[in-house]
Amino acid sequence: MKVLVVGANGQIGKHLVSFIQDSDNLEAKAMIRKQEQASFFEDLGAETAVVDLEKDIETIAKAAEGVDAVVFTAGSGPHTGPDKTILIDLDGAVKTMKAAKAAGVKRFIMVSSFDTTREAIQAAPSSFAPYVAAKHYADEWLKSMDLDYTIIHPGRLTNEEGTGQIEAAYEVNRAEIPREDVAHVIVASLENETTIGKEFQVVSGTKRIKEAIPSV
Ligand code: NAP
Repeated sequence: MKVLVVGANGQIGKHLVSFIQDSDNLEAKAMIRKQEQASFFEDLGAETAVVDLEKDIETIAKAAEGVDAVVFTAGSGPHTGPDKTILIDLDGAVKTMKAAKAAGVKRFIMVSSFDTTREAIQAAPSSFAPYVAAKHYADEWLKSMDLDYTIIHPGRLTNEEGTGQIEAAYEVNRAEIPREDVAHVIVASLENETTIGKEFQVVSGTKRIKEAIPSV
């Protein structure tokens, strides 16, 4: 299965491309926004596509041509304002979904935020609310499209080494999770069709990823 990783140059994205390239049945196409980011992925033997998410749907769709699945793990990050949150976390995500459809790709995995409910928007501090709102509506859009989606809601991301042990369910207690483990959770979700049509929260825990994800 060939997987377009959108946000490949991000912290989760780099782990993900590397784990995909290490797996037997998956191969990655890394979507990045600058040509100078390509060598990291070429060294892993992955194909690359240089596309800025602020470009139009047709441009993103060209990157999605010939792949079997799309993973969206891009984000505008904490150092830009609400304008980029809307353009990347919301519009960039929805354009990627439309691009997947245009390219005939059914499988779509979204790296969302831990709690993207309407209540979470209301409860968020004003500086964080636009991000939660963007993630909420991107998730809602994905669920309304005819795509084989999985929405992953990780807890607070850390750069600790992965443990391979998680707790994953529709609702879990808020906690942390290493980015490395999130990348393994994405690979396990790609490998398990039982995750299609599901959304789940995931934090560090006591179950092995390969055992927890098929029954999530
Ligand atoms: P990250 O390191 O900030 O990676 C985000 C990626 O998005 C970067 O590679 C960035 O590209 C790319 N990007 C930004 N704007 C773009 C554009 N216009 N066109 C194309 N690509 C663009 O994020 P992460 O730590 O891997 O996390 C992934 C996602 O998890 C986050 O975006 C967030 O929504 C979600 N999340 C975060 C937390 C948390 O605790 N922080 C918790 C749950 C979920 P460049 O490399 O070129 O900058």
